[in-house]
Amino acid sequence: MGKATGFMDYERVDANASTPKERIKNFCEFHIALSLEEQKRQAARCMECGVPFCQYGEAIQGMTSGCPLHNLIPEWNDLVYHGNFEQAYIRLKKTSNFPEFTSRVCPALCEKACTCGLHGDAVSTKENEKAIIEYAYAHGFAGPKPPQVRTEKKVAVIGSGPSGLAVADQLNQRGHEVTVFERNDAIGGLLRYGIPNMKLEKHIIDRKVAVMEAEGVHFVVNADVGKTTDIKKLKKEYDAIVLCCGASNPRNIEAPGREGDGIYFAVDFLTATTKRLVDGVLPESAFTDASFPSAKGKDVIIIGGGDTGNDCVGTCIRHGAKSVTQLEMMPEPPAERLESNPWPQWPLVKKTDYGQEESAAVFGQDPRLYTTTVSEFIRDKKGNLKKVVLVSLKSEVDKKTGRRMMVPDESTKREVPCQLVLIAAGFLGSESYVTKAFGVDVTERTNVKTGADDHKTSVAGIYTAGDMHTGQSLVVKAIAEGRACAAEVDAYLMGYTNL
Ligand SMILES: Cc1cc2nc3c(=O)[nH]c(=O)nc-3n(C[C@H](O)[C@H](O)[C@H](O)COP(=O)(O)OP(=O)(O)OC[C@H]3O[C@@H](n4cnc5c(N)ncnc54)[C@H](O)[C@@H]3O)c2cc1C
Ligand code: SF4
Repeated sequence: MGKATGFMDYERVDANASTPKERIKNFCEFHIALSLEEQKRQAARCMECGVPFCQYGEAIQGMTSGCPLHNLIPEWNDLVYHGNFEQAYIRLKKTSNFPEFTSRVCPALCEKACTCGLHGDAVSTKENEKAIIEYAYAHGFAGPKPPQVRTEKKVAVIGSGPSGLAVADQLNQRGHEVTVFERNDAIGGLLRYGIPNMKLEKHIIDRKVAVMEAEGVHFVVNADVGKTTDIKKLKKEYDAIVLCCGASNPRNIEAPGREGDGIYFAVDFLTATTKRLVDGVLPESAFTDASFPSAKGKDVIIIGGGDTGNDCVGTCIRHGAKSVTQLEMMPEPPAERLESNPWPQWPLVKKTDYGQEESAAVFGQDPRLYTTTVSEFIRDKKGNLKKVVLVSLKSEVDKKTGRRMMVPDESTKREVPCQLVLIAAGFLGSESYVTKAFGVDVTERTNVKTGADDHKTSVAGIYTAGDMHTGQSLVVKAIAEGRACAAEVDAYLMGYTNL
């Protein structure tokens, strides 16, 4: 351990963020890195615990506690404290393919399980991770390192989100020839079209993709496998295929008035914004273009109180919305952990994210309305959305199943003005045209079916990883899935694996 008393000597210091009113002027990342000297002090706060829960990464009470990649956190915190960023980068890369993504978008499961966080502030592990990877790029350690030996085995990866990229990176480093097929016009999956620019600027993805290309990974965009790209040909050409197509089937809201303009799924709305951004700014022409889902001057209702809903809040505020309301079906969580939810479990507490902070700064209030949903969409004679009917929900036990459910309290119905609705109510699983085309079995949730602890589908030589396998999850878990799957594919191709 670098500094035995570090956690007592130094307070936690987070990276500065520009003020909400300043940062909503554009769609750029808004965290300002700490100085290297301060970052080293922050790393000194790590106690290098005998049992580091931060790197545990397994489920406790059904929720993941610690880093799913089992990142060697105490080791690289110590190296950062000593200013040895090159070694810290080498340790970090042993378990993580894409620290440049996780250090920006991960909810930092490690910090919620940090021993320092039991009675005080957790070590700023996510920020330390970002300092290591950005130092590595700035000082030339993160450049291309092509494999020395090639195996002459060919692997096709379908889908270029974090799981597909992790599979490709691992198998390419092992010497296999990997081609990634992506139906969109750019690589990255939800990192590219989903997570907004202010959380992850897209040149960060391009920087890593360029490294992977230089290392020998082939990327094919605009290739919708099962529609525009022939599966028979793929099966003939490749020794193994890995399906990493995500869980892109959005959950709908069935209510009268649903059909028609003015109602979008969150990912379609966020994608449209990312596609129009020029240097982190939306050009004025976007708002006058009828095909662009603009929130400018509109009363917006976002259905879904989770992280995707929060991304919509931040994006709508940057569009110049008149008002933004975010609906959550469940009751408001507590401010502190309950006794039933002790450390190091994932804390089930109220989190105020960047979009909600920005709403408070711009509109003077948190946008969230708890135990509330939409029961009807009201349109004018021309079919334009003009209002929605909101209804409060109450918890009741279902007499047939005995399960607790949220049911509408009809006496609470009220109309509110609304010209734009964004549905951020989660995802239902994989898209059937891909699973049917490959003939792989799916579960009742439409995730691709495999054994309990593997990534093998019902068809020999075809594997799966990421959200398509687990259902909608997190970037860090998708990377962990991709790594585990790559080891199985390697063993299938070579008879053993050293991944
Ligand atoms: C709006 C939003 C914000 C999020 N924010 C965060 C966050 O801040 N932090 C976090 O950890 N997680 C976040 N998540 C979740 C996270 O993005 C996902 O869990 C993760 O991206 C899953 O990775 P994946 O590789 O399995 O799938 P995806 O990222 O969904 O990638 C799948 C890719 O497969 C492609 N594809 C699908 N079918 C085909 C086909 N037939 N042929 C070719 N290509 C195909 C898709 O176009 C897509 O590019 C967010 C999710 C959403 C929706
Ligand atoms: S990937 Fe996430 S959980 Fe793991 S060390 Fe980084 S921030 Fe923590």
